[in-house]
Amino acid sequence: MTEPSIFTRILDGEIPAEILAETDRLFAIRDIAPQAPVHLLVVPKTADYRDVTEVAAADPSLLAEIVAFANELAGQHTDDGDFRLIFNTGANAGQTVFHVHAHVLGGGLTEKSVGA
Ligand code: AMP
Repeated sequence: MTEPSIFTRILDGEIPAEILAETDRLFAIRDIAPQAPVHLLVVPKTADYRDVTEVAAADPSLLAEIVAFANELAGQHTDDGDFRLIFNTGANAGQTVFHVHAHVLGGGLTEKSVGA
């Protein structure tokens, strides 16, 4: 058995974090190391998918829910509702937690960098 991911441990209440919002299949938290004025994480409650490619292949409706939830959160947490949605995919692309999650960045982004 693999260890539960940090996000599963947050969901299970083993690691403290404020759950900002949730749906049947998703929850949102603030990133502990923000890279933008607003930096949220949208995380599926299931740990079945390591990255966005697995979600897209196995459950495209879940991917659509992630995008819609990110949009809703950006509307609530930023002045303009604009956001950058990032899925780091693979260790060499900066992925450190292999339980799929979307970074939602917003609130006064100025540069065009694609990095989180
Ligand atoms: P990634 O590098 O794309 O896999 O993203 C993992 C993200 O999880 C990083 O941006 C971390 O800052 C964030 N993170 C790690 N531990 C926590 C935590 N306990 N609460 C909130 N965010 C976390």
